[in-house]
Amino acid sequence: DIESRAACGVLTIDLKALVSNYDFLCRQTAPAKAAAVVKADAYGLGVAHVAPALYEAGCRDFFVAHFIEAVRLKPYLASDARILVLNGLMPGSEGDCADLGVVPVLNSLEQVANWSATAKARNTVLAAALQVDTGMSRLGLEPAEVDALLAEPERLGSIHVDIIMSHLACGDEPAHAANARQLARMGAVRSRFPDAKLSFANSAGIFLGEDYRGDLARPGIALYGGAPLAGAENPMHQVVRLEVGVVQTRTVPAGSEIGYGASFVAKSEMRLATIAAGYADGLPRHLSNTGAAWFGGVRLPIVGRVSMDSIILDITALEPGTLKIGDMVELIGPHQTLEMIAANAGTISYEILTSLGRRYERRYL
Ligand code: PLP
Repeated sequence: DIESRAACGVLTIDLKALVSNYDFLCRQTAPAKAAAVVKADAYGLGVAHVAPALYEAGCRDFFVAHFIEAVRLKPYLASDARILVLNGLMPGSEGDCADLGVVPVLNSLEQVANWSATAKARNTVLAAALQVDTGMSRLGLEPAEVDALLAEPERLGSIHVDIIMSHLACGDEPAHAANARQLARMGAVRSRFPDAKLSFANSAGIFLGEDYRGDLARPGIALYGGAPLAGAENPMHQVVRLEVGVVQTRTVPAGSEIGYGASFVAKSEMRLATIAAGYADGLPRHLSNTGAAWFGGVRLPIVGRVSMDSIILDITALEPGTLKIGDMVELIGPHQTLEMIAANAGTISYEILTSLGRRYERRYL
């Protein structure tokens, strides 16, 4: 159709690879279960496609960050799927949340009080996950606040705490001392909620050993092909492939200045190709003069600064005439993994995925 003919590149999202990653994580986590973290539009890959594929694969628990994401995800999932909101609810959203049957993660005494009041007003008991801050200082009740809650059972009386959870700050660094500290704090709190399921591990946590897995793991990045542990071999299948079209090629003499700020000057005659994607398409400006694209197994260095809508490549290494207008070069794929482009850009796979632009044709396999 005209959209795909007009697109500046092709973003291929392999849902079969996604599902095999989910299956692999389930096997790693067993006998505990694995939820799926599908916040930020399933890390940029399209929650409307990703969540139903994971549901088909048996996933029944879906974590989003904001309530708006739960509202938008709800129509794509059958009624036996559960949506949980990691950031909890802003005051005033409780009624909508209860109406939709969405489960909030309660991160503060105030959120507990508001959810409890909502349940009482409806003369019912409402499910929730209770998050404990075990050391990241981001979200969740302090262990002492949990003590205060349990000292007055009335405060949780209308809430069914189905999940007790916490989040690892340094899970991707297996040797980091914070991991064991967080695990120990979680163990102490968890013992106070014997009937609740423990949710502790993110992608990295699943690979830290059995103690970290709890009852319901919350992998995100590993589902989408990112490496769960920093510096270790990545056991996940690649899910994303990104190819961008060539819009112009040229030969420039020695001394030519290339791109904004003339940050690259040709030392000798060079052949260049301009491709149709830039930082507005999620290719970070940090790739300027350091990143690369690939074509026919050949690395094509990025020369000059990344522009908003285009990038200039040094194609001197290719035989003249090999790369033509309209050909596609690889930005993410078999030659340059998600982790490689993230490292070149001085960032993490999460940021590359969630920044992927809206001007590509998206193909779901
Ligand atoms: N749980 C929480 C609370 C999160 O914030 C995230 C994402 O950052 C995840 C789980 C998933 O983490 P990961 O993508 O590292 O598997």
